[in-house]
Amino acid sequence: MGGDAASRADASLGHQTLSPDASLTADEGLVPTSAAGLTYPWGERAPGAGEAIRITPSVRWVRIPMPGSLGHINSWLLDDEGGVAAVDTGLMLTPCSDAWKALFEGDLADTAITRVICTHLHPDHIGLAGWLVKRFEAPLYMTRGEWLTARFMIADVREEPPAEVSAMQRGAGWDEEAIERARAQGWSRFGRMVFRLPYGYRRLIDGQRLDIGGHDWRVVVGSGHSPEHACLLNEADGVLISGDQVLPRISSNVSMSSSEPDGDPLGEWLASIDKLLTLPDDLIVCPAHGEPFRGLHVRLKALRDEHHDRLDALATALAEEPRRATDCFPLLFRRTIGPDHIGLATGETLAHLRQLEVTGRVKRETQDGVWWWGAV
Ligand SMILES: [Zn+2]
Repeated sequence: MGGDAASRADASLGHQTLSPDASLTADEGLVPTSAAGLTYPWGERAPGAGEAIRITPSVRWVRIPMPGSLGHINSWLLDDEGGVAAVDTGLMLTPCSDAWKALFEGDLADTAITRVICTHLHPDHIGLAGWLVKRFEAPLYMTRGEWLTARFMIADVREEPPAEVSAMQRGAGWDEEAIERARAQGWSRFGRMVFRLPYGYRRLIDGQRLDIGGHDWRVVVGSGHSPEHACLLNEADGVLISGDQVLPRISSNVSMSSSEPDGDPLGEWLASIDKLLTLPDDLIVCPAHGEPFRGLHVRLKALRDEHHDRLDALATALAEEPRRATDCFPLLFRRTIGPDHIGLATGETLAHLRQLEVTGRVKRETQDGVWWWGAV
């Protein structure tokens, strides 16, 4: 586990999309996005080892270091009766569990974790959930879509990638060498980054209100980055725990999944942006990666506009000549896509192409198992 597993993880399209290991190294998309107009009330400050920073009357911020380009995940502690509810947990890696142990000897000394809440199933979010649940005999809260998908991925311990994964790679334009390289990396690494989950869970439902320590929290579900991602809104406090649904500096990975090849994750993502735009604009947004910020609407609109720009650029190019997903990389990404990023790049490109197909702007023709996207 660790950096090595991380670098192997997103080299495999199948693994990266069916199982989002890519969150280890690249939970972000491959496209830099604008964060203009955001303000960071705490500036460059971030919690150190053993430290929990008070953000609002109901929320404290702790940081769990991680390998990979993200470098960390934030955990948000919601004041609860008898302790704190912890939102998101870090990977099942020693640096992550050591960070929690430092907190238990630091600012969380004599503080119990009363519940563990996971915004979504990615290993950097649920990796230590089972460990915290066990240590504190606390219940685990997730949406059903995230819970069931996590259980399914942990249970999928086959050694070789399913045939559907290679078929999607071929469809996207990978050559046989790249497909074989991904196959050789095997399958089923997801469970290795996740501490054994409890048998049961408490279900979070969109719109549900949770009383946590006398504070009113509302569940706001989004989709596209993961199946049923839970954000938590405390309107009285003016705070949104946004997980990976809204990140300040990087664009969340929105990828076509080989387990749901007719899906439209980017369509779900854009719909979720519209939904989140109905929330108040003056919230403190507490993301899983990066610093708490103000400017929710500016950020959401920037993300939306950038996706639309890319969709328009693709549609224009495809009107000139049909292309495969791999032919579209230079249109979408400023960096050269090598073996390390082909999985992530393919998942994101297919998400855009599929959105264009769903909205009737391009059509797909299959020739010898390869998908060619062109004018309608
Ligand atoms: Zn994620």
